[in-house]
Amino acid sequence: MIPVILGWLAAWLVNYISDVLPVTRSLSQPACPHCAVNTEWRDYLFFRRCQACGKFWRFRAIVVQVLTLVIAVYIWVNPPARLGFWIAFTILVYMLVVMVIDLEHRIVMHPISLAGAALGLAIGTMLHGLPETLAGGVAGLGFMYILYALGQLFSKQLAKRRGEPIEDALGFGDVTLSGVLGLFLGWPLILAGLLGSILIGGLISLLIVIAMLVTKRYQAFTAIPYAPFLILGALYILLK
Ligand SMILES: [Zn+2]
Repeated sequence: MIPVILGWLAAWLVNYISDVLPVTRSLSQPACPHCAVNTEWRDYLFFRRCQACGKFWRFRAIVVQVLTLVIAVYIWVNPPARLGFWIAFTILVYMLVVMVIDLEHRIVMHPISLAGAALGLAIGTMLHGLPETLAGGVAGLGFMYILYALGQLFSKQLAKRRGEPIEDALGFGDVTLSGVLGLFLGWPLILAGLLGSILIGGLISLLIVIAMLVTKRYQAFTAIPYAPFLILGALYILLK
């Protein structure tokens, strides 16, 4: 029963942060995205449709509730050997917030990265000591910054040639997120994490391009949110 309650409460938190923080930049009262009228807490917590405009806007919330519940129960029954239930659950809930916000808004927010840095520093130090933790953070930040700078250079050249702005493949949020993941993973595991996410990201991008070609909706340089891949790469290593 404990993981069920924990999973449900944590999912409320994930949904609440993802609903308000990117929109109002503060922990405000949640509001309907269609008509912007504030949602009553009772309606909000029980996933009712908007009382003002009648629209149902909590689809993602329900997906997150179910997903978090399943994750909580799963790792309660099979706690990851290195992390144990509590640390693994804390990391997963944090990563879920980053993923939902990145998928919906294409941003990795600074306050979320800062919170992650604090969490990563604490958990990383517990797992592999302070020097390895800090080295992992610096490596993640530095490595992704190089990719980011190269991407900027590339899109600037391309934009000049085509005479129109091109959306950057990597955002600066991906750089800070890699630093955070570096703290969690430590040196040298962060290298494996980044490599893994580049491979997963490349594979998924390829599948998306194929799907677009098949449906004849291909657009070159469609930007794909990258944070979920970084997170999946890191989680794969952390939860092993
Ligand atoms: Zn509404």
